[in-house]
Amino acid sequence: MAQSISNNRDTDLVTTGSNKRTGKVYLVGAGPGDPGLLTLRGKYLLERAKIVVYDYLANKKFLNYAPDDAEFIYAGKKGNGLHAFTQEEINQLLVKHAKNGANVVRLKGGDPFIFGRGAEEIEELVKENIPFEVVPGVTSATAAATYAGIPITHRAYTASVAFITGHEDPTKKQSNIHWDKLATGAGTLVIFMGIKNLPIITKKLIENGRDPKTPVAVVRWASTPAQRSVVGTLETITDVVREKGIKPPALIVVGDVVSLRSTLDWFEKRSLFGKNIVVTRTRQQASELVALLEENGAQCLEYSTIAIEPVEDYSVLDCEIKQIATYDWLLFTSLNAVTYFFKRLSALGLDSRNLGGPKVGVVGAATADELKQYGISADLIPEIFTAEGLADSLTKEGMNGKKVLIPRAVKAREILPDKLRLAEAEVVIAPTYQNVVPKDRGEELREQLTEKAIDMVTFTSSSTVDNFISMLNTNSPEELNKLLAGVEIAAIGPITAATVEKHGLRPTIKPERFTINDMVNSIVDHYTKPPAE
Ligand code: SAH
Repeated sequence: MAQSISNNRDTDLVTTGSNKRTGKVYLVGAGPGDPGLLTLRGKYLLERAKIVVYDYLANKKFLNYAPDDAEFIYAGKKGNGLHAFTQEEINQLLVKHAKNGANVVRLKGGDPFIFGRGAEEIEELVKENIPFEVVPGVTSATAAATYAGIPITHRAYTASVAFITGHEDPTKKQSNIHWDKLATGAGTLVIFMGIKNLPIITKKLIENGRDPKTPVAVVRWASTPAQRSVVGTLETITDVVREKGIKPPALIVVGDVVSLRSTLDWFEKRSLFGKNIVVTRTRQQASELVALLEENGAQCLEYSTIAIEPVEDYSVLDCEIKQIATYDWLLFTSLNAVTYFFKRLSALGLDSRNLGGPKVGVVGAATADELKQYGISADLIPEIFTAEGLADSLTKEGMNGKKVLIPRAVKAREILPDKLRLAEAEVVIAPTYQNVVPKDRGEELREQLTEKAIDMVTFTSSSTVDNFISMLNTNSPEELNKLLAGVEIAAIGPITAATVEKHGLRPTIKPERFTINDMVNSIVDHYTKPPAE
């Protein structure tokens, strides 16, 4: 049974001494980057935020949790080489918005009280009498180690850990960091912000008695698809980091536990780790494919190639819905057809109970599942999930004189109505939704392809292929081929694959069954199994 989570601590506006209403500031840890590592409390507060002030290291995906009318303020000190705000300005920003009565979520990478200057922001709020709450986060110190396959403690290796900033100016006369004690005092050392000073840090540790052969790992962008880890020893790690071009943000883990990585590494070992895969679907439908690809470690670049919109004129659909009881079959050839059909049904003040007359046929499993949301089980799902498959299955049942309604996209293949008419059915097509091409992100896509930053493009229907290519705005087939040279193409089924080929491209991944699940399995096989002889 689903559990409901009671999380009803005070999030409403509170009143301070004067009768002016003051907002509350929530300092929320956003975790290390993995969108799954935000706390439930953090999510709850984001969902109710009026203002979100976020950092460079906080995952931008979390902003989607905030209400549509929330205001987002980027307070990162990095990004585009700009110092967006000074610490003092951030403090003042929080004070100003809270005084104006807004509930503010201040989203900070990792844990706000671990090298996050969280306390400085709170101190300012205390001075101004502004109520606050601090929500801890998963710190990158533990996440980076864990996602690199390194337990920061282990009974057989170490019983202590120290978190250290590596940012301190190494030329500073009076250091706050007691390298002499830390070098051998703690079994595992986790050093934040230490890439620039790595040569000095390693030197100090060795000078103060740590074994030069102590293993060291450096983990960049931990827990994200861009994670990169390198391993060396205190003696060698500076060269390794330079040679491999590891830049901040990265953590340095020093200690014998690092040797466990060779057996415990898991995150970077997932089959699609390091692969950049374009997902071309409508925004509403991308989630399942993206979730499955990410589960296997891929970095998904979501480009919606189709925007689905209602049609301008519903007169045909309305008229046929009113006489739906006279139909023998109602056919759905896409998920969108189901969604928009039921939207219209509802707009007419009707619901599933009015569909008692005809049998219902669908093109495939996903469409059948969507239909179930409306309490309707499909009477017919063809073995082959295509319009042809559906037409053949229906024809076998005998269509002579049968009345068939197909609510569908304005522009669609005519194969289903053609085949059914050939079998003497009386077919009515009702325009129910339309596909339009969103052009706004074409340029970004071209850049990524030109930089060869994309490993694979996935297509889940012919229109995603046509629209993707139209978004690229190429002048010739040669240009298109050049842009996509070296990029693998996955097509969900034979029709989609044929459309890819029509554009002079070659699909390399073609699952045997035409479902998202099978497509992802084929992609995983493609990258993990050796090619067949
Ligand atoms: N409060 C944060 C740390 C902020 S200091 C936390 O608890 O994680 C910023 C430093 O944290 C970076 O320079 C880097 O050393 C480290 N860091 C933060 N996120 C990281 C990540 N995803 N991967 C590697 N290092 C990270």
